[in-house]
Amino acid sequence: MFLVRLVYASRVSDSLSTDDVAQILEHSRSNNRSNDISGLLCFNHEYFLQCLEGSRARVNALYQRILSDTRHQDILLLSYGEITERNFGRWSMGYIPASSIIRETTMRFSGKSEFNPYEMTGDSAHALLAELARNTPTLE
Ligand code: FAD
Repeated sequence: MFLVRLVYASRVSDSLSTDDVAQILEHSRSNNRSNDISGLLCFNHEYFLQCLEGSRARVNALYQRILSDTRHQDILLLSYGEITERNFGRWSMGYIPASSIIRETTMRFSGKSEFNPYEMTGDSAHALLAELARNTPTLE
């Protein structure tokens, strides 16, 4: 069973509410736990940035479902590759809220001070998520 990591960015759809995000998280955690998928979801009311880690077949199947979810749009694959170990194995889906995304951190990993994952490389997006995870006290 090959281990992979996938990182993508998307824009929230116009109809998305805070309740939708809570529902996505609740459902994701339960589904991902059953499928041994781990990762992080970052959300700032405009964009999603998500990292998924797990078996190649399961991560690919989940990504196919995520692609057809109407709660977001303009989904852009930032990186995908085989890995030797997980970075976010502690979280079935850790959540990084907008309040944790500070200017200093986005400046460090992108060309702009505002959080915009479309302006980041896959490596930078992954590094940003790792840094945010370190600095966010409660992810789950
Ligand atoms: P179902 O049982 O058919 O659906 C589960 C529930 O999701 C339904 O009760 C419904 O309330 C809701 N739902 C599904 N699609 C929509 C929709 N288009 N609009 C409104 N509500 C809907 N799923 C995961 O399992 N793991 C993840 O890590 C994950 N991350 C996500 C990140 C983002 C940014 C988004 C937008 C969605 C994510 N999802 C994730 C949800 C995923 O897109 C699928 O909806 C979900 O995996 C389907 O689960 P299921 O097969 O159990 O389907």
